[in-house]
Amino acid sequence: MKLGTAESEPGEISTGYFSVTELPTGQPEQVPVILADGEEPGPTVWVTGTIHGDEPTGMAAVHEFVTLIRDEPLRGTVVCVPVMNPSGLRTNTRTSYYHGDDPNRHFGVESESGETPPSVQQLICERVYEEIKTSADAVISLHTSWVATYPYTIRPRVSYGEHREETVAVELRNRLVELTEAFGLPIVNQFGHDETTQRSLEHTLTGAAIADGIPAFTPELGGRFVVERDVCEAAVDGLYNVLYASGMVDEPATSSPEFGLPADDDLKRLVHPHTDTAGLVRYRVREGDWVESGEAIADIVTPCGELKAEVNAEHSGYVLSRYERVAVYENDPLLDMAVLDDEPLLRNCSE
Ligand SMILES: [Zn+2]
Repeated sequence: MKLGTAESEPGEISTGYFSVTELPTGQPEQVPVILADGEEPGPTVWVTGTIHGDEPTGMAAVHEFVTLIRDEPLRGTVVCVPVMNPSGLRTNTRTSYYHGDDPNRHFGVESESGETPPSVQQLICERVYEEIKTSADAVISLHTSWVATYPYTIRPRVSYGEHREETVAVELRNRLVELTEAFGLPIVNQFGHDETTQRSLEHTLTGAAIADGIPAFTPELGGRFVVERDVCEAAVDGLYNVLYASGMVDEPATSSPEFGLPADDDLKRLVHPHTDTAGLVRYRVREGDWVESGEAIADIVTPCGELKAEVNAEHSGYVLSRYERVAVYENDPLLDMAVLDDEPLLRNCSE
């Protein structure tokens, strides 16, 4: 396999850079590439990190994962792009600085449609995704979330009907269940279908890959801005266990720090609750906590510290993240939660 200046050799790790566009100042914009090629044939697994420039734990996990597999006999190929958003990384911001757009909302968009030509960020996404689409048997898109976050894996929903046979969708769903369980972080199913569409999440890297029938998922490796050591280590083991579940290595990872959100049934993402009162937030709960429906999760106070309102949860579930802000306006969200999933992971979209 060849990707930019990286060219794989059986049994070797090769590094290089893939040029994705030209900068106005004359230099190429490049993403770093690490190819780990096995001695024997097998699947091709893509691991990407830091598509949001303020999310460095994915990048660090890739670096340490490559060190871990360096001397392992491997079947198949691991393609790592530790930094998908070099301009965002330079400025420690989520977006790219070309036009300030979110790079993870430009995958699987038909650029031929409409009269406006694609933005440079969309072109970059198309160029990288073309390589992914033609080679990937699985994609792991490493992210982080708000600063105060319990690590978890977002498992996408799979649909069938107009574009995909039910049997193919069942196979994809089963593979996703297998790989996300192998990764080892608590699993939280994607938002419900309507919410996913409203947020354009079908144009994330994971969303586009799923649409193309490639098993893909999104670990949220704790909070952004700094590498969280314990989550990074869990991610390295998780990646290794995905290789094991794909038949690419002989043994599972030996150890893993434990993160767990015990639940009898599937959980799904929900941004909830919101405050209907403006003011300053004082949380009563933290990430990883279980919250009962009706429980007060935060107080809203005045700048003098007087209580204005209590915000209560309307659903029971786990706190995944507290939002990174103290001052809130009407209807601002306060938590990302994992609540019982009332929608199927597999959905007939022609109904
Ligand atoms: Zn992200």
